[in-house]
This record gives sequence, structure tokens and C-alpha cells, in this order.
Amino acid sequence: MVFDSHTHLFGHGHVAGAMRAACQRAWGEEQELLALPEDHWESVKDVEGAIVLAFAAPATGTVVPNKYIAEYVSKQPGRLFGFASVDPNNQLAPSLLENAIKEYNLSGLKLGPMYQNFYPDDKKHFALYAKADELNIPILIHQGTSFVPEGYLDASRPAALDPIAREFPDLKIVIAHMGHPWVGECISVVRKNTNMYMDLSALGGRPWQFYNAMVLAMEYRVTHKILLGSDFPFFTIQQTIDSLRNINSVAEGTSMPKIPEEIIEDIIHRNTPEILGLIK
Ligand SMILES: [Zn+2]
Repeated sequence: MVFDSHTHLFGHGHVAGAMRAACQRAWGEEQELLALPEDHWESVKDVEGAIVLAFAAPATGTVVPNKYIAEYVSKQPGRLFGFASVDPNNQLAPSLLENAIKEYNLSGLKLGPMYQNFYPDDKKHFALYAKADELNIPILIHQGTSFVPEGYLDASRPAALDPIAREFPDLKIVIAHMGHPWVGECISVVRKNTNMYMDLSALGGRPWQFYNAMVLAMEYRVTHKILLGSDFPFFTIQQTIDSLRNINSVAEGTSMPKIPEEIIEDIIHRNTPEILGLIK
């Protein structure tokens, strides 16, 4: 199977404020960041399934509602899995999560401290993780950098998740983008906690970093915990697979390590729904 574990929908008006301004500065584009259902549908036609992410990040301007995701994924249950998102700064976050999961039949929780401006290791947020644990759903967390000036960079270090992984050993936690640029820190926290994983989405855009991340994962023997993901609409799954199969090109003609084809193909064919327990 080929499964895309990290994709977005962005409807009209969902990306605003600081995030929209940062996108325009980064890419010099005036148009809105969009990933409409019809675009997404096209992007997943060649894969067996995908995770589609809501996002409640009012602190930096992005709000992709749970209902919007739920309506889309309900077209193909068992193939498209929607992840809810709630704002951890909202005191009602645990009950909002429970409602979203039960009412909308969603399959996980998406968080991003760098966009939601919360410190994930603060004990006051542990009730939210306890709720995810109770609901038996995984968390996909963007625990890495971003370009939004208003975001809390000091809340985004992968090691901050270690106390959560230890407190909730059955709660599955996936670190997006292998914690870039803190790939080594991400690998160290994922390696020691049996309930933690990482996705390689968006790394193909930086071939040198991607190559180094893969070599490091190989040396620490954690490549079996890497999930395939595109970060659509920023990359397609085909671009992601191509950049993974091409990973050794930066080392060509040198004596630097090569990532064996077997490791690459294992990642491409990883059974993420089974690993994360998405099919109940
Ligand atoms: Zn993403």
C-alpha cells in the first residue's frame, strides 16, 4: 500500500492573519493559500488512502474547521481519515476534541505548537492528551520550525514531547517533517519512545537536509518509524516518492553513506493505518 499520512485542505478564508502574511512574504504571491476538496481528490487518486488535517490555530491565523474536513472525508470512509484539531489554549479543548471525534467520526488529533502558540509540555495541556488517549486516537504534531514571526519557536523543540510520551505510553504521537530542522532531536525522542513516530513530509524540498535526516535515522536504526507523507498542497505524493527514491543523488560520486533501496521502499509501502490504529 501507498498511504499519504500528511495532507491538508485549505478552503476560502481558512488561512488569514499572520499566516497569510507570512505565506505572501515567503512566496511573493498575492493569491490565497488554497487546497480545495477537488484538488485534494485529484492528489489522492493514485494512493490507497490519506490523512486529511483540520487545524485550529487562531493565534497565527489558520482555522480549518473539523466539520469541513469531516464532510470531505465522509465521501470515502476507510480510505480518507480526517484528523480533528482543537486550540489547546481553549480550556474546553478536551471536550471539544471528544465532540469532534464522536460527532464527526474523525480519526486523530492535529496539533502545532508553533502555530497554536502553546507549550506542549505544560502540565495544563495534559488533560487534552489524556482525552486523546481515552478516545484511542493518534496525535500528529508539527514539532519543528516555521516561517510565521508570531509563532512560538521556543515551543517547537521535539524533546518537549518526551514527558508526554512517557506519561501516555499507549498514545501514538507522530512528529511531522521529522522535526525539521531538529532532526537529531526528533530521532532521539522517537527512538526512545515506542509510541512515537515521525513523517518525512515536505523534506524533499531540501535535498541535503533530507539526505542527512535519512542517514541519521538509518544510523540510529529508526527508519521503521518513518511514515510517508506529502504535506499536500505544498508537495504531491508523487514528488515525495520521487525525492525519496532520488535521496542518494547528493552523495553520488562520493564515499558518503547511501540509503539502501530496501529502506526506501519500506517507507513508501508503510502501512500507516495499521501502525496508527486508524481502522477500528
Ligand atoms: Zn502540514
